[in-house]
Amino acid sequence: MNHPENDSQYIGLTVNSGVAQPPSVNPYLAGRRRRKPMPTTGELVEGILKGDVTMLSRAVTLVESRSHEHQALAQEVIEKCLPYSGNSRRIGITGVPGAGKSTSIDVFGLHVLKSGGKLAVLAIDPSSELTKGSILGDKTRMEKLSLHPDAFIRPSPSAGSLGGVARKTRETIVLCEAAGYNNIFVETVGVGQSETAVHSMVDFFLLIQLAGTGDELQGIKRGIMEMADGIVINKADGDNIDRARLAQAQFKSALRLFPTPPSGWTPEVLTYSGYFELGIPEVWDMIDRYFDFVKANGYFSRRRDEQARYWMYETIDDRLRSRFYNDPGVKELLAEKERRVLDSRQSSFTAARDVLDYYFSGLGAKK
Ligand code: GDP
Repeated sequence: MNHPENDSQYIGLTVNSGVAQPPSVNPYLAGRRRRKPMPTTGELVEGILKGDVTMLSRAVTLVESRSHEHQALAQEVIEKCLPYSGNSRRIGITGVPGAGKSTSIDVFGLHVLKSGGKLAVLAIDPSSELTKGSILGDKTRMEKLSLHPDAFIRPSPSAGSLGGVARKTRETIVLCEAAGYNNIFVETVGVGQSETAVHSMVDFFLLIQLAGTGDELQGIKRGIMEMADGIVINKADGDNIDRARLAQAQFKSALRLFPTPPSGWTPEVLTYSGYFELGIPEVWDMIDRYFDFVKANGYFSRRRDEQARYWMYETIDDRLRSRFYNDPGVKELLAEKERRVLDSRQSSFTAARDVLDYYFSGLGAKK
């Protein structure tokens, strides 16, 4: 071999030719590492309608994406799936952290799946962008369900504003239904505004409560109780049973003070134990009865119509805002107007009027 060190002046030293460097350590792995090409919208829709979980997941990822290109594809897939959606029970589940949502969803989910069908567990957690990685809808929190072949669990999209997060979950519901998921759970934390968002996309709203020191009604906002179609007191086990029963009586009497909700259904209050799996069929029996009731009196479809209308206006609001605030001219003008307002050179109202006039006169909007 021709190598300087093989020269006769270096006696006793020979350099042998080595083994050629392979192009890749494992050619099979190299191939696999490459990201699969994005399926077409037609392929996505076809896959979803067949119940293909990979295609469903990829479509949900498109829905959650911030890229305009992905959004356009997502909207196309949603439109095509829409005729196949709607055939599910959409159930919202809320409760403060520690109330036992994940433990309960695990057992409720398995209970529901016993009678066949498929279950999707979605979540709305507007804080997930801050916490990086959502705690809601997390597979590790629903150990048994996550192993079930007919369960699809997806954590909350982290899209910034609550409106944005909620819209994405709403769109994911359409995709899941088209994929044959006839039970949809939407989980949210029982604090803040996210309950309203969940309420705007579900047929039944379940509030998980805990028995506490006897004054549990104080901590819960009236608005949330008014939204609930059912209140369930968890951890009714061991020496907590009596306290749970007491809480049940208190909630029942508190509910009596509220006017009958538009559904005509008086919310029921039950106790159960998610951990020890006590009282689960009873909770489900209540939900079954609710669906029979509202389907018979027409409220079920009325509520869905209202929700569809609500989401149309929500989406318009959302788009208008984002177009407006992302307009380069508006951005510039806003910065200038903000300075003027802070220097008391212009009132907030005329400044706002000027920016809106600029945008709607076509100067900004046409760009
Ligand atoms: P989440 O934050 O609402 O999702 O609540 P988790 O499901 O994580 O439950 C919070 C804690 O309460 C965990 O330590 C659970 O083991 C416990 N827990 C949940 N359900 C029950 C129950 O029915 N009885 C008892 N005693 N503990 C429970």
